[in-house]
Amino acid sequence: MRYQRSSSLFQSAQKVIPGGVNSPVRAFKAVGGTPIFVEKAKGAYLYDEDGNRLIDYISSWGPMILGHAFEPVLEAIKTSADRGTSYGMPTELETKIAELAVKMVPNIDKIRMVNSGTEACMSAVRLARGYTGREKIIKFAGCYHGHSDAFLIQAGSGAVTFGAPNSPGVTKGTARDTLLSKYNDLESVAFHFDQHPQQIAAIIIEPVAGNMGCIPPQAGFIEGLRRLCDTHQTLLIFDEVMTGFRLARGGAQERLQIKADICTYGKVLGGGLPVGAFAAPKEIMSHLAPEGPVYQAGTLSGNPLAMAAGFTMLKTLNENPEIFERLDNKTETLHQGMQEVLDKKGIPFHINRLGSMISLHFTDSEVVDLDSAADGNNDSFKKYFHGMLNEGIYLPPSAFESYFLNDALSFEDIEKTITALKKVMALWK
Ligand SMILES: *Cc1c(COP(=O)(O)O)cnc(C)c1O
Repeated sequence: MRYQRSSSLFQSAQKVIPGGVNSPVRAFKAVGGTPIFVEKAKGAYLYDEDGNRLIDYISSWGPMILGHAFEPVLEAIKTSADRGTSYGMPTELETKIAELAVKMVPNIDKIRMVNSGTEACMSAVRLARGYTGREKIIKFAGCYHGHSDAFLIQAGSGAVTFGAPNSPGVTKGTARDTLLSKYNDLESVAFHFDQHPQQIAAIIIEPVAGNMGCIPPQAGFIEGLRRLCDTHQTLLIFDEVMTGFRLARGGAQERLQIKADICTYGKVLGGGLPVGAFAAPKEIMSHLAPEGPVYQAGTLSGNPLAMAAGFTMLKTLNENPEIFERLDNKTETLHQGMQEVLDKKGIPFHINRLGSMISLHFTDSEVVDLDSAADGNNDSFKKYFHGMLNEGIYLPPSAFESYFLNDALSFEDIEKTITALKKVMALWK
Protein backbone atom coordinates (compact mmCIF):
# COMPACT_ATOMS: atom_id res chain seq x y z
CA MET A 1 0.00 0.00 0.00
CA ARG A 2 1.12 3.52 -0.68
CA TYR A 3 0.76 6.52 1.53
CA GLN A 4 2.04 9.39 -0.60
CA ARG A 5 -0.86 11.71 -0.04
CA SER A 6 -1.04 10.95 3.70
CA SER A 7 2.68 11.75 3.91
CA SER A 8 2.31 15.08 2.23
CA LEU A 9 -0.80 15.96 4.26
CA PHE A 10 1.10 15.09 7.44
CA GLN A 11 3.94 17.40 6.44
CA SER A 12 1.54 20.30 5.92
CA ALA A 13 -0.22 19.49 9.20
CA GLN A 14 3.02 19.55 11.20
CA LYS A 15 3.61 23.16 10.19
CA VAL A 16 0.43 24.41 11.85
CA ILE A 17 -0.64 21.72 14.36
CA PRO A 18 1.68 20.51 17.16
CA GLY A 19 3.00 17.15 15.96
CA GLY A 20 0.56 17.35 13.07
CA VAL A 21 -2.33 15.93 15.09
CA ASN A 22 -5.03 16.99 17.52
CA SER A 23 -4.53 13.98 19.81
CA PRO A 24 -1.09 12.41 20.36
CA VAL A 25 -1.63 8.69 19.62
CA ARG A 26 -2.74 9.57 16.09
CA ALA A 27 0.81 10.64 15.23
CA PHE A 28 2.16 7.03 15.06
CA LYS A 29 5.10 7.91 17.31
CA ALA A 30 4.91 4.53 19.03
CA VAL A 31 5.00 2.55 15.79
CA GLY A 32 6.90 4.89 13.47
CA GLY A 33 5.90 5.82 9.94
CA THR A 34 3.29 8.23 8.69
CA PRO A 35 -0.18 8.57 10.17
CA ILE A 36 -2.93 7.76 7.73
CA PHE A 37 -5.23 10.56 6.75
CA VAL A 38 -8.84 9.54 6.37
CA GLU A 39 -11.06 10.69 3.58
CA LYS A 40 -14.23 8.94 4.73
CA ALA A 41 -15.54 5.88 6.51
CA LYS A 42 -18.53 3.61 6.11
CA GLY A 43 -19.51 0.54 8.11
CA ALA A 44 -16.42 -1.45 9.06
CA TYR A 45 -14.13 0.37 6.63
CA LEU A 46 -11.92 3.41 6.52
CA TYR A 47 -11.06 4.95 3.15
CA ASP A 48 -7.83 6.91 3.27
CA GLU A 49 -6.59 9.82 1.20
CA ASP A 50 -4.47 7.50 -0.97
CA GLY A 51 -7.48 5.44 -1.99
CA ASN A 52 -6.80 2.44 0.29
CA ARG A 53 -9.62 0.65 2.06
CA LEU A 54 -8.79 -0.48 5.59
CA ILE A 55 -10.70 -2.77 7.95
CA ASP A 56 -11.04 -0.66 11.08
CA TYR A 57 -10.41 -2.09 14.56
CA ILE A 58 -10.45 1.15 16.53
CA SER A 59 -13.92 2.48 15.68
CA SER A 60 -12.79 6.03 16.51
CA TRP A 61 -11.50 4.58 19.83
CA GLY A 62 -14.88 3.17 20.66
CA PRO A 63 -17.75 5.47 19.69
CA MET A 64 -18.60 3.87 16.34
CA ILE A 65 -19.89 0.67 17.92
CA LEU A 66 -22.51 0.31 15.16
CA GLY A 67 -19.98 0.98 12.41
CA HIS A 68 -19.13 4.23 10.64
CA ALA A 69 -21.78 6.51 9.17
CA PHE A 70 -24.63 4.49 10.68
CA GLU A 71 -27.67 5.73 8.73
CA PRO A 72 -30.17 6.39 11.56
CA VAL A 73 -27.57 8.44 13.46
CA LEU A 74 -26.72 10.42 10.32
CA GLU A 75 -30.42 11.08 9.72
CA ALA A 76 -30.88 12.30 13.28
CA ILE A 77 -27.94 14.68 12.97
CA LYS A 78 -29.15 16.08 9.66
CA THR A 79 -32.70 16.62 10.89
CA SER A 80 -31.40 18.28 14.03
CA ALA A 81 -28.97 20.54 12.13
CA ASP A 82 -31.86 21.97 10.12
CA ARG A 83 -33.30 23.28 13.39
CA GLY A 84 -30.14 25.09 14.46
CA THR A 85 -27.01 23.75 16.10
CA SER A 86 -26.95 25.27 19.60
CA TYR A 87 -29.25 27.37 21.77
CA GLY A 88 -27.77 27.56 25.27
CA MET A 89 -31.29 26.74 26.49
CA PRO A 90 -32.89 23.45 27.50
CA THR A 91 -34.41 21.06 24.98
CA GLU A 92 -36.80 18.13 25.44
CA LEU A 93 -34.27 15.76 23.89
CA GLU A 94 -31.90 16.26 26.84
CA THR A 95 -34.55 14.82 29.15
CA LYS A 96 -35.26 11.96 26.73
CA ILE A 97 -31.63 10.86 26.47
CA ALA A 98 -31.26 11.16 30.26
CA GLU A 99 -34.38 9.03 30.80
CA LEU A 100 -33.07 6.41 28.42
CA ALA A 101 -29.60 6.34 30.00
CA VAL A 102 -31.13 6.03 33.47
CA LYS A 103 -33.24 3.12 32.21
CA MET A 104 -30.30 1.31 30.61
CA VAL A 105 -27.73 1.77 33.38
CA PRO A 106 -28.02 0.22 36.85
CA ASN A 107 -27.85 2.35 39.97
CA ILE A 108 -28.09 5.85 38.48
CA ASP A 109 -30.99 8.29 38.90
CA LYS A 110 -29.57 11.40 37.29
CA ILE A 111 -27.05 12.18 34.59
CA ARG A 112 -25.28 15.40 33.58
CA MET A 113 -24.01 15.83 30.01
CA VAL A 114 -20.62 17.35 29.22
CA ASN A 115 -18.50 17.46 26.07
CA SER A 116 -15.79 14.84 26.57
CA GLY A 117 -14.71 11.94 28.73
CA THR A 118 -12.04 14.20 30.21
CA GLU A 119 -14.64 16.63 31.48
CA ALA A 120 -16.79 13.81 32.78
CA CYS A 121 -13.99 12.34 34.92
CA MET A 122 -12.76 15.73 36.11
CA SER A 123 -16.29 16.67 37.20
CA ALA A 124 -16.99 13.28 38.78
CA VAL A 125 -13.95 13.69 41.03
CA ARG A 126 -14.97 17.22 41.99
CA LEU A 127 -18.42 15.93 42.87
CA ALA A 128 -16.91 13.11 44.95
CA ARG A 129 -14.72 15.60 46.79
CA GLY A 130 -17.61 17.98 47.34
CA TYR A 131 -19.83 15.17 48.56
CA THR A 132 -17.34 13.59 50.97
CA GLY A 133 -15.50 16.74 52.02
CA ARG A 134 -12.22 14.89 51.43
CA GLU A 135 -9.40 15.72 49.02
CA LYS A 136 -7.42 12.66 48.00
CA ILE A 137 -8.23 10.21 45.24
CA ILE A 138 -6.78 6.83 44.31
CA LYS A 139 -6.11 6.00 40.69
CA PHE A 140 -4.39 3.04 39.08
CA ALA A 141 -1.15 3.11 37.13
CA GLY A 142 -1.98 2.67 33.45
CA CYS A 143 -5.60 3.79 33.75
CA TYR A 144 -6.50 6.78 31.64
CA HIS A 145 -9.20 9.18 32.72
CA GLY A 146 -8.64 11.97 30.22
CA HIS A 147 -6.07 14.74 30.31
CA SER A 148 -7.07 16.83 33.32
CA ASP A 149 -4.24 17.50 35.78
CA ALA A 150 -5.23 15.14 38.59
CA PHE A 151 -5.17 12.13 36.25
CA LEU A 152 -1.86 12.67 34.49
CA ILE A 153 -0.09 10.64 37.12
CA GLN A 154 1.01 7.38 35.50
CA ALA A 155 -1.82 7.61 33.00
CA GLY A 156 -2.33 5.08 30.23
CA SER A 157 -2.99 5.58 26.52
CA GLY A 158 -0.86 8.26 24.83
CA ALA A 159 0.63 9.36 28.14
CA VAL A 160 2.34 5.99 28.59
CA THR A 161 2.94 5.34 24.89
CA PHE A 162 5.28 8.30 24.92
CA GLY A 163 7.04 7.39 28.12
CA ALA A 164 5.99 10.54 29.95
CA PRO A 165 3.40 9.39 32.45
CA ASN A 166 3.87 12.51 34.51
CA SER A 167 3.27 15.51 32.32
CA PRO A 168 5.12 18.79 32.88
CA GLY A 169 2.59 21.41 33.85
CA VAL A 170 0.92 19.29 36.51
CA THR A 171 1.67 20.92 39.84
CA LYS A 172 3.15 19.07 42.81
CA GLY A 173 0.13 20.11 44.83
CA THR A 174 -2.20 18.39 42.42
CA ALA A 175 -0.01 15.32 42.16
CA ARG A 176 0.06 15.02 45.96
CA ASP A 177 -3.68 14.44 46.11
CA THR A 178 -3.60 11.63 43.57
CA LEU A 179 -2.54 8.35 45.18
CA LEU A 180 -1.35 5.59 42.87
CA SER A 181 -2.17 1.92 43.11
CA LYS A 182 -1.52 -1.11 40.94
CA TYR A 183 -4.31 -2.53 38.84
CA ASN A 184 -5.47 -5.94 40.08
CA ASP A 185 -3.61 -5.43 43.37
CA LEU A 186 -5.90 -4.83 46.37
CA GLU A 187 -2.98 -4.59 48.81
CA SER A 188 -1.73 -1.52 46.98
CA VAL A 189 -5.12 0.09 47.58
CA ALA A 190 -5.55 -0.94 51.22
CA PHE A 191 -2.11 0.58 51.86
CA HIS A 192 -3.37 4.09 51.02
CA PHE A 193 -6.39 3.74 53.31
CA ASP A 194 -4.00 2.91 56.16
CA GLN A 195 -1.77 5.86 55.33
CA HIS A 196 -4.54 8.42 54.82
CA PRO A 197 -7.49 7.54 57.05
CA GLN A 198 -10.65 9.61 56.44
CA GLN A 199 -8.95 11.50 53.62
CA ILE A 200 -9.78 9.56 50.49
CA ALA A 201 -12.76 10.92 48.60
CA ALA A 202 -12.83 8.37 45.80
CA ILE A 203 -11.25 5.53 43.96
CA ILE A 204 -11.47 6.04 40.21
CA ILE A 205 -10.94 3.05 37.96
CA GLU A 206 -11.54 1.72 34.48
CA PRO A 207 -13.57 -1.35 35.52
CA VAL A 208 -12.12 -3.08 32.46
CA ALA A 209 -8.90 -1.28 31.59
CA GLY A 210 -8.58 -0.27 27.94
CA ASN A 211 -5.70 2.17 27.97
CA MET A 212 -2.79 -0.21 28.66
CA GLY A 213 -4.13 -2.68 26.15
CA CYS A 214 -7.22 -4.48 27.37
CA ILE A 215 -6.83 -5.65 30.96
CA PRO A 216 -9.87 -7.26 32.56
CA PRO A 217 -10.14 -7.17 36.35
CA GLN A 218 -9.15 -10.42 38.06
CA ALA A 219 -11.71 -12.30 40.12
CA GLY A 220 -12.42 -10.48 43.36
CA PHE A 221 -10.54 -7.29 42.51
CA ILE A 222 -13.44 -4.94 41.84
CA GLU A 223 -15.46 -6.62 44.61
CA GLY A 224 -12.55 -5.85 46.94
CA LEU A 225 -12.55 -2.20 45.90
CA ARG A 226 -16.28 -2.02 46.57
CA ARG A 227 -15.71 -3.42 50.07
CA LEU A 228 -12.85 -1.04 50.84
CA CYS A 229 -14.95 1.91 49.68
CA ASP A 230 -17.88 0.82 51.84
CA THR A 231 -15.64 0.39 54.87
CA HIS A 232 -14.03 3.81 54.50
CA GLN A 233 -17.04 5.83 53.23
CA THR A 234 -15.11 6.46 50.03
CA LEU A 235 -16.92 6.73 46.68
CA LEU A 236 -16.19 4.22 43.94
CA ILE A 237 -16.06 5.92 40.54
CA PHE A 238 -16.29 3.69 37.49
CA ASP A 239 -14.80 5.41 34.48
CA GLU A 240 -17.05 3.83 31.88
CA VAL A 241 -16.02 6.16 29.07
CA MET A 242 -14.82 3.06 27.16
CA THR A 243 -16.97 0.33 28.68
CA GLY A 244 -20.26 2.22 28.98
CA PHE A 245 -22.88 1.12 26.43
CA ARG A 246 -20.20 -1.22 24.99
CA LEU A 247 -19.85 -4.21 27.33
CA ALA A 248 -23.61 -4.33 27.88
CA ARG A 249 -26.57 -1.93 27.89
CA GLY A 250 -25.60 -1.10 31.46
CA GLY A 251 -21.85 -1.16 30.76
CA ALA A 252 -19.35 -2.70 33.17
CA GLN A 253 -21.70 -2.27 36.14
CA GLU A 254 -24.08 -4.73 34.48
CA ARG A 255 -21.40 -6.95 33.02
CA LEU A 256 -19.44 -7.32 36.27
CA GLN A 257 -22.52 -7.09 38.50
CA ILE A 258 -21.00 -4.44 40.73
CA LYS A 259 -22.45 -1.07 41.58
CA ALA A 260 -20.37 2.07 41.47
CA ASP A 261 -21.29 5.30 43.26
CA ILE A 262 -20.54 7.58 40.30
CA CYS A 263 -20.08 6.54 36.66
CA THR A 264 -18.58 8.50 33.82
CA TYR A 265 -19.44 8.08 30.15
CA GLY A 266 -18.34 9.31 26.74
CA LYS A 267 -17.42 7.68 23.45
CA VAL A 268 -20.44 5.47 22.51
CA LEU A 269 -22.80 7.85 24.32
CA GLY A 270 -22.12 10.60 21.76
CA GLY A 271 -22.66 8.46 18.68
CA GLY A 272 -19.52 9.99 17.18
CA LEU A 273 -20.07 13.56 18.35
CA PRO A 274 -18.24 15.11 21.34
CA VAL A 275 -20.18 14.01 24.42
CA GLY A 276 -19.33 12.90 27.93
CA ALA A 277 -21.50 12.45 31.00
CA PHE A 278 -21.40 11.57 34.67
CA ALA A 279 -24.17 9.93 36.59
CA ALA A 280 -25.02 8.74 40.09
CA PRO A 281 -27.89 8.10 42.50
CA LYS A 282 -29.87 11.29 43.23
CA GLU A 283 -28.49 11.61 46.74
CA ILE A 284 -25.03 12.25 45.26
CA MET A 285 -26.17 14.19 42.18
CA SER A 286 -28.15 16.61 44.35
CA HIS A 287 -24.81 18.13 45.38
CA LEU A 288 -24.28 19.41 41.85
CA ALA A 289 -25.06 23.00 40.75
CA PRO A 290 -27.67 24.40 40.46
CA GLU A 291 -29.25 21.96 42.93
CA GLY A 292 -26.20 21.90 45.18
CA PRO A 293 -22.90 23.73 45.73
CA VAL A 294 -20.50 21.69 43.53
CA TYR A 295 -19.99 23.80 40.42
CA GLN A 296 -19.92 22.45 36.89
CA ALA A 297 -21.15 23.98 33.62
CA GLY A 298 -20.78 23.94 29.83
CA THR A 299 -21.80 26.27 26.99
CA LEU A 300 -22.27 23.44 24.52
CA SER A 301 -23.27 20.75 27.04
CA GLY A 302 -26.37 18.89 25.89
CA ASN A 303 -25.83 20.28 22.42
CA PRO A 304 -28.79 19.35 20.19
CA LEU A 305 -26.73 17.71 17.42
CA ALA A 306 -24.79 15.61 19.92
CA MET A 307 -27.94 14.67 21.82
CA ALA A 308 -29.67 13.65 18.58
CA ALA A 309 -26.75 11.40 17.64
CA GLY A 310 -26.40 9.99 21.15
CA PHE A 311 -30.10 9.38 21.63
CA THR A 312 -30.34 7.46 18.36
CA MET A 313 -27.29 5.43 19.29
CA LEU A 314 -28.60 4.51 22.76
CA LYS A 315 -32.06 3.76 21.43
CA THR A 316 -30.62 1.37 18.85
CA LEU A 317 -28.53 -0.41 21.49
CA ASN A 318 -31.41 -0.52 23.96
CA GLU A 319 -33.83 -2.00 21.44
CA ASN A 320 -31.32 -4.48 19.99
CA PRO A 321 -29.39 -5.94 22.91
CA GLU A 322 -28.36 -8.87 20.69
CA ILE A 323 -25.79 -6.43 19.28
CA PHE A 324 -23.68 -6.95 22.41
CA GLU A 325 -23.77 -10.72 22.05
CA ARG A 326 -22.93 -10.49 18.37
CA LEU A 327 -19.97 -8.23 19.16
CA ASP A 328 -18.79 -10.71 21.79
CA ASN A 329 -19.00 -13.56 19.26
CA LYS A 330 -17.10 -11.61 16.65
CA THR A 331 -14.39 -10.70 19.12
CA GLU A 332 -14.14 -14.29 20.31
CA THR A 333 -13.80 -15.48 16.70
CA LEU A 334 -11.00 -12.99 16.17
CA HIS A 335 -9.36 -14.09 19.42
CA GLN A 336 -9.45 -17.79 18.48
CA GLY A 337 -8.17 -17.12 14.97
CA MET A 338 -5.26 -15.01 16.20
CA GLN A 339 -4.46 -17.51 18.93
CA GLU A 340 -4.22 -20.39 16.42
CA VAL A 341 -1.94 -18.50 14.05
CA LEU A 342 0.35 -17.26 16.83
CA ASP A 343 0.47 -20.61 18.63
CA LYS A 344 1.81 -22.18 15.43
CA LYS A 345 4.44 -19.49 15.11
CA GLY A 346 5.69 -20.15 18.63
CA ILE A 347 6.57 -16.56 19.56
CA PRO A 348 5.76 -15.27 23.06
CA PHE A 349 2.37 -13.60 23.16
CA HIS A 350 -0.72 -13.03 25.29
CA ILE A 351 -4.18 -12.05 24.15
CA ASN A 352 -6.49 -10.27 26.61
CA ARG A 353 -10.18 -9.93 25.91
CA LEU A 354 -13.43 -8.97 27.55
CA GLY A 355 -16.54 -8.45 25.42
CA SER A 356 -15.65 -6.45 22.33
CA MET A 357 -12.33 -5.23 23.76
CA ILE A 358 -9.21 -7.20 22.89
CA SER A 359 -5.43 -6.69 22.74
CA LEU A 360 -2.36 -8.65 21.74
CA HIS A 361 0.81 -8.41 23.85
CA PHE A 362 4.16 -9.81 22.77
CA THR A 363 5.20 -11.18 26.14
CA ASP A 364 5.51 -14.52 27.96
CA SER A 365 3.87 -13.37 31.16
CA GLU A 366 0.23 -12.64 31.83
CA VAL A 367 -0.72 -9.01 31.34
CA VAL A 368 -2.54 -7.84 34.48
CA ASP A 369 -1.25 -4.31 35.12
CA LEU A 370 0.88 -1.51 33.68
CA ASP A 371 4.21 -3.22 34.48
CA SER A 372 3.30 -6.45 32.76
CA ALA A 373 1.84 -4.53 29.80
CA ALA A 374 5.08 -2.56 29.53
CA ASP A 375 7.02 -5.85 29.40
CA GLY A 376 5.67 -6.45 25.91
CA ASN A 377 8.21 -6.37 23.09
CA ASN A 378 7.62 -3.10 21.28
CA ASP A 379 9.74 -3.98 18.25
CA SER A 380 7.52 -6.99 17.68
CA PHE A 381 4.46 -4.81 18.10
CA LYS A 382 5.71 -2.30 15.50
CA LYS A 383 6.45 -5.08 13.03
CA TYR A 384 3.03 -6.58 13.61
CA PHE A 385 1.24 -3.24 13.32
CA HIS A 386 2.89 -2.29 10.03
CA GLY A 387 2.57 -5.82 8.65
CA MET A 388 -1.17 -5.80 9.31
CA LEU A 389 -1.53 -2.27 7.95
CA ASN A 390 0.13 -3.38 4.76
CA GLU A 391 -2.57 -6.04 4.46
CA GLY A 392 -5.29 -3.42 4.89
CA ILE A 393 -6.00 -3.95 8.58
CA TYR A 394 -6.05 -0.85 10.79
CA LEU A 395 -5.11 -1.65 14.40
CA PRO A 396 -4.44 0.77 17.26
CA PRO A 397 -1.01 2.34 16.57
CA SER A 398 0.26 1.58 20.08
CA ALA A 399 0.70 -1.54 22.19
CA PHE A 400 -1.03 0.31 25.04
CA GLU A 401 -4.42 0.51 23.35
CA SER A 402 -7.26 -1.94 23.10
CA TYR A 403 -9.06 -2.78 19.85
CA PHE A 404 -12.75 -1.87 19.75
CA LEU A 405 -14.85 -3.98 17.47
CA ASN A 406 -17.96 -2.64 15.79
CA ASP A 407 -21.14 -4.34 14.69
CA ALA A 408 -20.60 -3.53 11.00
CA LEU A 409 -17.58 -5.82 10.99
CA SER A 410 -18.55 -9.11 9.28
CA PHE A 411 -17.26 -12.60 10.01
CA GLU A 412 -15.74 -12.40 6.52
CA ASP A 413 -13.79 -9.28 7.57
CA ILE A 414 -12.53 -11.18 10.59
CA GLU A 415 -11.55 -14.11 8.38
CA LYS A 416 -9.61 -11.66 6.19
CA THR A 417 -7.91 -10.28 9.28
CA ILE A 418 -6.77 -13.74 10.34
CA THR A 419 -5.52 -14.47 6.81
CA ALA A 420 -3.59 -11.20 6.98
CA LEU A 421 -2.04 -12.28 10.28
CA LYS A 422 -0.98 -15.58 8.69
CA LYS A 423 0.80 -13.65 5.93
CA VAL A 424 2.47 -11.36 8.45
CA MET A 425 3.63 -14.36 10.48
CA ALA A 426 4.91 -16.16 7.36
CA LEU A 427 7.32 -13.25 6.83
CA TRP A 428 8.12 -12.83 10.57
CA LYS A 429 11.82 -12.94 11.43
C1 LIG B 1 -11.17 8.09 26.15
C2 LIG B 1 -11.20 7.97 27.60
C3 LIG B 1 -11.31 9.09 28.43
C4 LIG B 1 -11.22 10.49 27.90
O1 LIG B 1 -12.26 10.81 27.04
P1 LIG B 1 -12.06 12.04 26.01
O2 LIG B 1 -13.40 12.16 25.37
O3 LIG B 1 -10.97 11.63 25.09
O4 LIG B 1 -11.72 13.23 26.81
C5 LIG B 1 -11.47 8.91 29.78
N1 LIG B 1 -11.51 7.69 30.30
C6 LIG B 1 -11.41 6.57 29.55
C7 LIG B 1 -11.48 5.23 30.19
C8 LIG B 1 -11.23 6.68 28.18
O5 LIG B 1 -11.07 5.60 27.45
